[in-house]
Amino acid sequence: MCIMCMEILKGRMNIKEARHALKELVATTDKKEELEHYLELSKISDEDFIEEIEKLNSEE
Ligand SMILES: [Zn+2]
Repeated sequence: MCIMCMEILKGRMNIKEARHALKELVATTDKKEELEHYLELSKISDEDFIEEIEKLNSEE
């Protein structure tokens, strides 16, 4: 799980802040896997965003 998802799970970042952070992360990451993860999250709705993070959390 990436740092951003971790922050959301811990309640230190809300979805609105995460959307903002995503733009920055997409522009700055040089890892292909991370980029795909960020782009995926950029495309989906807030509800799906939260669902995705909870799903990632339960897998770890
Ligand atoms: Zn993540």
